[in-house]
Amino acid sequence: MVKSNGLRVVLFPLPLQGVINPMIQLAKILHSRGFSITVIHTRFNAPKASSHPLFTFVEIPDGLSETEATTEDVTLLLTLLNQNCESPFRDCLNKLFQSAEKEKERISCLIDDSGWVFTQPLSQSLNLPRLVLNTFKVSFFTNHFLLPQLRHLTLLDSKQDDPVEEFPPLRKKEVLQILTEVLDSYSDMMLEQTKASSGLIFMSCEELDQDSLTQAREYFNVPIFMMGPSHIQFPASSSSLLSPDESSISWLDKQEDKSVIYVSFGSISTVSKSELMEIAWGLSNTDQPFLWVVRGCSDVQGKEWTEAIPEELMERLKEKGKIVKWAPQQEVLKHRAIGGFLTHNGWNSTVESICEGVPMICLPFRWDQLLNARFVTEVWMVGIHLEGKIERNEIEKAIRRLLLETEGEATRERMELLKEKVGSSVKQNGSAYRSVESLIDYISSF
Ligand code: UDP
Repeated sequence: MVKSNGLRVVLFPLPLQGVINPMIQLAKILHSRGFSITVIHTRFNAPKASSHPLFTFVEIPDGLSETEATTEDVTLLLTLLNQNCESPFRDCLNKLFQSAEKEKERISCLIDDSGWVFTQPLSQSLNLPRLVLNTFKVSFFTNHFLLPQLRHLTLLDSKQDDPVEEFPPLRKKEVLQILTEVLDSYSDMMLEQTKASSGLIFMSCEELDQDSLTQAREYFNVPIFMMGPSHIQFPASSSSLLSPDESSISWLDKQEDKSVIYVSFGSISTVSKSELMEIAWGLSNTDQPFLWVVRGCSDVQGKEWTEAIPEELMERLKEKGKIVKWAPQQEVLKHRAIGGFLTHNGWNSTVESICEGVPMICLPFRWDQLLNARFVTEVWMVGIHLEGKIERNEIEKAIRRLLLETEGEATRERMELLKEKVGSSVKQNGSAYRSVESLIDYISSF
């Protein structure tokens, strides 16, 4: 049992799986160092309080309708959440201060997500330091604030595949795609509130972000901490919002070493019915076993997605692979049978894959996924890029290249080296280990 240091940290994650996971990891680190933890959360996508009996969970109303809560439009979701949650959050924080006073406990700081734009002025008015946890690669978070300026610049004259100097190693077409999701006014507010914060925490490490840390330190001018891939120290997917299908593991136990391709596109992105069919044919044609997470189809609503796949193909798929609605991903990637990961390159999935030394086939859909996939394939060279081609032949070819050909072996070797480097960052005296120590000193000093 860890001795309490008399300090409480309040966490306020955005209600997205990719944000809740690192936030709970951070809570575990802080709790192991004596901090008491309160997690304020929305009703929508509420974390499972019963999985974390040592933390206090407080729910606030979010005012989202059923349709709003299931949108894939993250910008719209964030706008609505910011509109609806400000006043309930303020009431909740005031109550926490009152009870902390009664119990003679001190609330040391608020740690939330950069996507909340009302929390900085509020915490300032209460004299409460606010730190911002980021679930993006440092270079994405920093450079995406520069995007509105690029709208009118050189992009117009360049070709679709030209690199964009201000945002390496992205291509013009990718920057243009990301720009369609940038809401300039929201982005400006987020930047202003981030610069006014007491510090930034990234779920990354120097080994993955050397390219941009100096620039980020100058740009934000606040202390930056790199907590590293903390799930290595605090395993288990206890922060999963959906119940993982544990039979995935017993199925993997029956497969040969490094033979299985794991397919998952995270918690938000879905594919259309025709894209689903292409992936199904691609997987079926390779003759390799696969574990495929299918949460549904973007254009098949109200009925089981499996109805979209003809019976004959479904039979073939069942012979070779396993399809689940949600997998215990961290355990899956750790399994000896996994040979590759066909992924959307969300930052969590990318880091989890690196930490287990699993090379990737990259199929990014949007936002930071586009940058992560370029780093995986062109900078670290630990994966193959599908270049957005959701076509059976392309998928089959990529799986073969990765699992059966010498090119795959070389990719795997590079991945092993990267895995070692990143893994050592959280070991004693590693870069992330030292950064977490400074973060704890910093928070304790408030
Ligand atoms: N995840 C999981 N089971 C699944 C699919 C995903 O546990 O079947 C977890 C995965 O381990 C990761 C998170 O969900 O921690 C997804 O985060 P990521 O940043 O990769 O993508 P997002 O969902 O934010 O697009």
